[in-house]
Amino acid sequence: MLFVVFNRCFVRGDSNGVLSCLERERLEQELTEARSRGRNLSRLRNLTPFERAALEGRERGAQARLKDHDAEHGCQR
Ligand SMILES: [Zn+2]
Repeated sequence: MLFVVFNRCFVRGDSNGVLSCLERERLEQELTEARSRGRNLSRLRNLTPFERAALEGRERGAQARLKDHDAEHGCQR
């Protein structure tokens, strides 16, 4: 596994030679987790408006961080 720093991002070259930013991967995972947690919880029971707002806020936050990262690092591909 090759690790290099590119545009201040740690990137990893995978077997296809594609570089991916580790920080971006982490943020994407955070967003995916926030989404699936919301889905799972709302399947289990009815969420209170407060819980729903908290979950949506979490998802929006993760989305915003990903967008900021893209804007700042320009590493999305
Ligand atoms: Zn990056």
